[in-house]
Amino acid sequence: MKPASRKIVIVGGGVAGLCAGVYAQASGYQVEVLEQGSVPGGLATSWKRAGYTFETCLHWLVGSSPDGALGAQWREVCDLDKLTFVYPEEFQRLETEDGRALRIYSHVDQLEAEFLRASPQDAEEIRAFASAIRGLADFPMEALNEAWPRKGLALLRLIPKLPLLQHWASMSAAEYGKRFEHELIRRFFVDGATSGMSVIALVFMFAWMSRKNAGYPIGGSKAVVRLIVERFRALGGTLRLMAKADEILVENNAAVGVRLADGETIHADWVISAADGHATIYDLLGGKYRDEAIDQFYEKQQVFPSYLQVSLGVAQDLSAEPGLLSRCLAEPLRLDPETVLHEVPLRIFHYDPTFAPPGKTAVTAFLPTYNYAYWLDLERSDPKRYAAEKQRVARAVIAILDRRMPGIRERIETIDVSTPASVVRFTANWKGSMEGFVPTPGTGFGAKRQTLPGLDRFRMVGQWVQPGGGLPSGLMTARTAIRAICRKDHVPFVPKSASGVDQAA
Ligand SMILES: Cc1cc2nc3c(=O)[nH]c(=O)nc-3n(C[C@H](O)[C@H](O)[C@H](O)COP(=O)(O)OP(=O)(O)OC[C@H]3O[C@@H](n4cnc5c(N)ncnc54)[C@H](O)[C@@H]3O)c2cc1C
Repeated sequence: MKPASRKIVIVGGGVAGLCAGVYAQASGYQVEVLEQGSVPGGLATSWKRAGYTFETCLHWLVGSSPDGALGAQWREVCDLDKLTFVYPEEFQRLETEDGRALRIYSHVDQLEAEFLRASPQDAEEIRAFASAIRGLADFPMEALNEAWPRKGLALLRLIPKLPLLQHWASMSAAEYGKRFEHELIRRFFVDGATSGMSVIALVFMFAWMSRKNAGYPIGGSKAVVRLIVERFRALGGTLRLMAKADEILVENNAAVGVRLADGETIHADWVISAADGHATIYDLLGGKYRDEAIDQFYEKQQVFPSYLQVSLGVAQDLSAEPGLLSRCLAEPLRLDPETVLHEVPLRIFHYDPTFAPPGKTAVTAFLPTYNYAYWLDLERSDPKRYAAEKQRVARAVIAILDRRMPGIRERIETIDVSTPASVVRFTANWKGSMEGFVPTPGTGFGAKRQTLPGLDRFRMVGQWVQPGGGLPSGLMTARTAIRAICRKDHVPFVPKSASGVDQAA
């Protein structure tokens, strides 16, 4: 059978599902992407309130530079060059409420110089960290998801870097941070939602930023998602919104289609799940295709937290402020019965003119919590208290902002609060997680198995099969899955760049 007569149905219209759709459609398959929500993009999204746009996801897109393999892969799924990327010189500023501050620069040279200036007593460790960033700057992460022989060449290039890699992958950011005497440098590593991550993740983050390969696209997540959807549709793919899959249909241990929540049945030659991993394995497939390793991973591996987001529309030009301002609190913020925050990161989107009218600024606060159940229960059982709790958290964030910028509360025109209940409702992610599994020491960034034991004609893609998540996990796992499907069906996998040039697969 020719691929054109073969159908692939994809559950989930987040970045992973859409990228898989583009690759499959470009390979000649007939593709239908099913998205439960009313907009595509999943976690990669933003929303509008009273003239402001509130971004929830993108700080950066790894692979933004046209140089390098990941940049080339992004350009296979969309015309990324239509976007304008910004590369802030100062990536983040940490401040205490008694007036101390530490600038975290994007480029390793400036970062090292600033850390040395702030803390000469930590010189040895600062130099070691900067040297790791430089040493791994050209690490071919995306090539690890390539097919042989490219993968082999990448592995060969990797051999001299293995000791460095192993050293930095063996400890968490929180453990590593304790080596620093300087309070704010220590807090940079130890506090925050990512402290359980292997410190190698931070090494890579600065390596990519130093090489201007992790820029912020003007327009944020929706600008990227729009381009992928455009390409998918231009290739002839079908994106169905408000189409919730309830069951993956299986015959003789092969996936044969999907049953939607309204009872409609869609038959297909292959099924790909780009939806939440836990729901895919334990609900959509009824837990029939799993083994102990899978159960253990889902039971024991740490996931990224869920979060509340307080979004504020401020009638003031805040362009003199850093784009990411983390306030270390004198009085901790009690978020919910199990969560107390000592630091609140504020994103000040003055660098994205599409997010607010001239002279005004969209500001968001990211408030991580593992107590997703509290917010889900509260929304269901006591909507009045749920609303009151949201207001309480918003007031606390406004007070933090007002202590830093006195009088700003008078200029706040719009307030919006989302909670883990919102994350679950809009994306159906397990535990309301913002990014899937944490790449802890030992897990690595390598993609997990995309197949399930005993189940044929099925693949999983997205953040739940690649610890560390992020938009690139969707791109890379989608590419790997479609390449494997093409191989099984004996059809060539020849991805084309959005400008029409063939890429070597
Ligand atoms: C606060 C925050 C900051 C982040 N910052 C960055 C960043 O700077 N850079 C970066 O690269 N990444 C960042 N991420 C992570 C990134 O957003 C995610 O890892 C990525 O978007 C996950 O894509 P995905 O397609 O794998 O999953 P998802 O986005 O979760 O998509 C899954 C889709 O499947 C749909 N779905 C689920 N169940 C069903 C069903 N039964 N039927 C039909 N559809 C279904 C959902 O509605 C959803 O649209 C951030 C995330 C958050 C929350």
